[in-house]
Amino acid sequence: MRKNPYIIFLSAPGAGKGTQAAIVAQELNMAHIASGDLFRQAIRDETELGMRVKSYVESGQLVPDETTIKMVLGRLSAPDAEGGAILDGFPRNLQQAEALDKALAEQAKAVDKVVYIKVSEEELLKRLSGRWICRQCQAPYHTINSPPKVRGKCDKCGGELYQRPDDTAQAVKKRLQVYFTQTAPLIDYYAQSGKLLEVDGEGSVDEVRRRIVSALHREVVARWA
Ligand code: AMP
Repeated sequence: MRKNPYIIFLSAPGAGKGTQAAIVAQELNMAHIASGDLFRQAIRDETELGMRVKSYVESGQLVPDETTIKMVLGRLSAPDAEGGAILDGFPRNLQQAEALDKALAEQAKAVDKVVYIKVSEEELLKRLSGRWICRQCQAPYHTINSPPKVRGKCDKCGGELYQRPDDTAQAVKKRLQVYFTQTAPLIDYYAQSGKLLEVDGEGSVDEVRRRIVSALHREVVARWA
């Protein structure tokens, strides 16, 4: 018997997907599986997977499907995610979406809803170019929208702030191009099966969070209570 739904968070890079997925997962007490975080952790730990995916991640290209699908499906079979999870950053193209559908169907499960956070292209560029992350606790900051109290230092743990290698101008351009050609077609894919929940991603983190949580309560969570 499943405890929770399977919810995918889908958006362009810079739309606040990672921030929102983490907050909502905590609020709904669900496992949060972020493919980008799993790759970055493997790179930091210098594992065999990390070495293999480093150049893709740092240049803003998609890691090959076989590697990505194996990693995410493996994580999904852990006990905390078996009964449902929030997927953040996966699937990123049609092949991955089909592989996920197939793997869930084999266990008589399915994706329940897809939260699509919509932000204009102009806003995406503004957000991506000012992004900084804490090296220790991964808290995100933005030079304009949410600057740290002390420049270069994390408010929460005092860690050093750095720019992700894929947040440099050239990599940002590549990530947006990859998103529009490979990931954006998933919006139609999930709309056709009636699973898409479109949420306006402009405004403060808290405003967007409230929109997502209320849409999820209306459409999904009430049915699982
Ligand atoms: P993110 O943190 O979601 O922006 O992901 C950072 C990077 O990790 C991406 O630019 C890709 O290089 C890689 N990545 C994350 N998720 C996927 C995925 N589903 N498929 C392929 N590559 C991915």
